[in-house]
Amino acid sequence: MGTLDKGGIMKRSRKLLCAALVVAFALFCLVSPVDAWNSHGACTKLIISDQQWLKAYDSITITPWTYEEVDTAAIGPNFVLQFIEGKPGTVTSAAAILTNYADEPDWKMDQDLNFSPFQVLTGGSQGWRHQYYGLGWLRFGVAPSRAQYFFDLAGKAKEKGDLYWTFRYLARAMHYVQDTTQPYHGIPAPTGLIFKGIGNFGALMGSATNHHYNLEEYQGAMVALNSPVLVAALRSTAPLDIATAASPSWLCRRGAYLGRPEVRTLWPMETTFFGSNVDGKDSWTVEVSALRVAKSGTDQAAYDLELSGPLGRMSSYTKTLFELARQEYGL
Ligand SMILES: [Zn+2]
Repeated sequence: MGTLDKGGIMKRSRKLLCAALVVAFALFCLVSPVDAWNSHGACTKLIISDQQWLKAYDSITITPWTYEEVDTAAIGPNFVLQFIEGKPGTVTSAAAILTNYADEPDWKMDQDLNFSPFQVLTGGSQGWRHQYYGLGWLRFGVAPSRAQYFFDLAGKAKEKGDLYWTFRYLARAMHYVQDTTQPYHGIPAPTGLIFKGIGNFGALMGSATNHHYNLEEYQGAMVALNSPVLVAALRSTAPLDIATAASPSWLCRRGAYLGRPEVRTLWPMETTFFGSNVDGKDSWTVEVSALRVAKSGTDQAAYDLELSGPLGRMSSYTKTLFELARQEYGL
């Protein structure tokens, strides 16, 4: 048996680390949820409240789907195309389309499909399309290209003069951009904890799932209760300059990149606010009906402030996406 030189040992340990990370992620993500911010629709309603340009599109006739030739990506076998505001021929508005279909990609569109042997790392085909996990140099998920795919289709619909599908495809693109701004969609737990927890996966998986779900439960409840801090973040965060934020794919990659370090801050704040149950191995969900809007100076108020960062980014990136669509498609 030959001896390894220094470079060989380094290469081997890098390979081992890589393998350990993949195994860690595989075990970790098998139970990882794939929903993101609690109700894209409810948040979108607040986000678009300052989008005056949408008022020009308050009368759009619903058209049937006629994009077989260009919209060729696989869809889940159990996905059913719905027309929420009424059958083709009915009149609706851009605001209604964006709000009603903000959640459409979660309606089995991306479930029960096979894209990659690595999709197991993100919890299946829906997780693969809706997330963008990153640990070191490894990336899992295709949310950025999915956002781009639907944004491009919105352009094809606009070329045909079909405003209904322009906005419906834009709503789908928006969904993936919004997903990647939820910090736990960029990484399931703080990196340090992932390494520390390698010896006790059950506990690590349980606590990561609890943190992910409780952030979303809490955020949804606070939006429903009109929490001033969170509602302000959704309403008034400004878009980015589209000279830099040049594509939906860029927005997704940037959103996930900025969210990852925030997981490190959110995690201990969740432990402080929700209590030690959230760190437990067993599934635990906060009693939503007992939640109230935060009083200033409390741990809850501090958590709201931290949460308003990524939630503001959800708003900002959504508005940036609209600016890109307006510039590229003349909306
Ligand atoms: Zn999603």
